[in-house]
Amino acid sequence: MLKRLSIKSKITIFYTLCTIFIVAVLLLFMVFISERVVDSDVKDNLVLLVESDIKDIDFDVIDEDDIKEEQEEGNIVFMLDNGQIGCISVSDTYITSKNGVRTFLFTDFGKLLVGQSNDYHIDSTEYTPDTIERITHNDVPYYVYTRIISLSDRDATINLKLIGITQDTGSALHGTTGSIVKAAFIILPLTIVLASVFGYLITRALFKPVGKIIDTAQRISHADDLSLRIDLDPGNDELHVLAKTYNTMLERLQTSFESEKAFTSDSSHELRTPVSIISAQCEYALSQNRTADEYIESLEVISRQSKRMNVLVSQLLSFTRLEQGTQKINFEKVDLGQLVDEICQDMEVVGNSSIQLSWNIEDKIHVIADTTLLSRMITNLLSNAYKYIKETGYIKVTVCEKMADMKKWAVISIEDNGIGISDSDIEKIFRRFFKVDKSRCRDCEDLSTGLGLAFVQKIAEIHKGSVSVSSQLGEGSTFVVKLPIE
Ligand code: ADP
Repeated sequence: MLKRLSIKSKITIFYTLCTIFIVAVLLLFMVFISERVVDSDVKDNLVLLVESDIKDIDFDVIDEDDIKEEQEEGNIVFMLDNGQIGCISVSDTYITSKNGVRTFLFTDFGKLLVGQSNDYHIDSTEYTPDTIERITHNDVPYYVYTRIISLSDRDATINLKLIGITQDTGSALHGTTGSIVKAAFIILPLTIVLASVFGYLITRALFKPVGKIIDTAQRISHADDLSLRIDLDPGNDELHVLAKTYNTMLERLQTSFESEKAFTSDSSHELRTPVSIISAQCEYALSQNRTADEYIESLEVISRQSKRMNVLVSQLLSFTRLEQGTQKINFEKVDLGQLVDEICQDMEVVGNSSIQLSWNIEDKIHVIADTTLLSRMITNLLSNAYKYIKETGYIKVTVCEKMADMKKWAVISIEDNGIGISDSDIEKIFRRFFKVDKSRCRDCEDLSTGLGLAFVQKIAEIHKGSVSVSSQLGEGSTFVVKLPIE
């Protein structure tokens, strides 16, 4: 049952139950604490008044001549057991009634000396000294506190009892408690209703972004449209962060999906040309009897296009492996000068002899790199320089170390005085399958795939480096690769 409920309902129920629990606990706590506090206050007042009155009681043995004077002053004069005359007096600070507490002074045989017991019917012999006792009179609860006082003068001693009495107002509070309980019967259901209504409204408002996220996700899956984004009002809470993360994820998905789509369509487009040429040549050769020369010509076209397809397919495969990270990369310490030197020597042998290749390499430049990928990058740049050079020309290669952004960089520069690249094309040459007009290039019709520089850029990226180009149309180009020196 609980599993079938939405998170909104679950939170509302949880929130309501918590509120009920807190209100109930608070009510109980209030009742309990208020009773305790009042009860202890009542008892404290009782003891305090009795104890303070004790100090104000005085006993003296007096002469017969003083009896009249003492009686006139309101003091209690009486005959002692030994025939002497005793006088009990209380000072002005003696209090018989304060804060609901009344005090009564008795002789030890129960005769009331000070205080008016009309309301209380106190029997001084009943109570235990030095303890607070609870008694009930006419169904009204009282606390009683008794102290025995022993006073002496000359050789006479008397025992008195001072009794304090007060109403047990703590019990009186039971009535209030009852009222609180009654009020709780109204407060609790009201709390349930308010807590669930407000809880639901708050949760609904908080979960509004979630609704939008679900809505967008559903629209994306139904319409197959990765360009949709979650559109939330400004905010910084967790749900907004989630929505932003989700949007960033969609952005990346869309980019990679579109580049994947473009790659697939570009690849098929590139392959379609040689396939169509091969198929057309086959149809041409087979359509009727041809001369030997015509067959040879057709076979040459087919062979050229097969080679082109071969180059394209193997380049595509390598590039895809590199892009998807499935190619194993072996980082090792590479002597960059030595590597460039070897490649230049090889290129000089296989390249056009009318082109002058020179290289100038600083010693001891080492980088952490994959030798195969690094060779491929330099070879691609050098092959391009050979491909896009004029009838005669020069290619200059330099390798040096430079400081930039507080870091050491190995810088490989390949300069040619070839056909150059126009400003409008220079932005595009690193894109996959981008090729400038074939007519500009000597002998590159079959070898051009448009993947060479995309490879160079990817390899530079893998090595945390970069590649840049500066070129002047008709003047030449300079490609610069920067690789970090660890
Ligand atoms: P391609 O297989 O066509 O050489 P690349 O990715 O290597 O593919 O190069 C893309 C385009 O950049 C080329 O078609 C060419 O027009 C231009 N390009 C590359 N290198 C040079 C260069 N050294 N001089 C002039 N143009 C160049």
